[in-house]
Amino acid sequence: MKIVHTPDELKMLLKDAKGSVGFVPTMGALHSGHQTLISEARKANDIVVVSIFVNPTQFLEGEDLSSYPRRADADEKVCELSGVDYLFYPEASSIYGRDEVSLKAPDVRGYILEGTSRPGHFDGVLTVVMKLLNIVRADRAYFGQKDAQQLMLIQEMVRQLFMDVDIVPVQTVREVDGLALSSRNVYLSAPEREEALKIARSLKRAGKLVMQDILSVDRIKVEMLAVLEPLEVEHVAIVDRAFNPLETIEIDNTIILVEAMVGNTRLLDNIWI
Ligand code: AMP
Repeated sequence: MKIVHTPDELKMLLKDAKGSVGFVPTMGALHSGHQTLISEARKANDIVVVSIFVNPTQFLEGEDLSSYPRRADADEKVCELSGVDYLFYPEASSIYGRDEVSLKAPDVRGYILEGTSRPGHFDGVLTVVMKLLNIVRADRAYFGQKDAQQLMLIQEMVRQLFMDVDIVPVQTVREVDGLALSSRNVYLSAPEREEALKIARSLKRAGKLVMQDILSVDRIKVEMLAVLEPLEVEHVAIVDRAFNPLETIEIDNTIILVEAMVGNTRLLDNIWI
């Protein structure tokens, strides 16, 4: 595995690469969710590139940019053992300059749900993903369904801007008790972690109702909110795969999402119906 620090060096190395390139962008503190993305990339491509970059432009004022977990050595080992060919580890100064062209998330879908609690967050996400995709020029790029709104916005960006990359969604990886893996889970104290389980439980409850053919969005939301009590819920949303609100669950076209604060930690989870 080669560790690369600058966009120019990575572009040069990949220019003469033979075969297909799979790309997994991350912010590091790698866990089994990331590893699953990497192993999907490994299965389908000749060359696998992973980036680790805690992207400053997607953090809002007062968020956890400076305290975000950074684990360079452990991450390097995970990548090495997962068969990564190139680990891209850029400095912010090699990604961003001054007075830049800006990319803005769509006015509606970029500013609902997580985009309401974190206005501008998705502008930063799309900007960095665009830059990284232009550096790597991958055939396929892998993103987790756990960040469903992010995944949808990246798919939209690629489609709207006629970009030449396949965006491959990967299912959410969970702990045995249901908690969705997230680099931010390390912030949770033991009692908070217990509280956080209510998020996955509320989604499980929703899934069970759907199995019983209860498809009313209002009814499902009420039941989910009861399970989530007394968490500080940012939103419970039931949308179609394009993020339009639904009144009734549509099988194979629905995402049920929860965003909640557990202590000071913002947690996201969802299920695809
Ligand atoms: P992050 O490092 O949090 O920016 O995540 C990098 C990529 O890993 C994103 O595409 C995430 O959606 C994905 N990811 C994060 N957590 C999980 C998980 N539990 N299961 C599957 N993918 C995940």
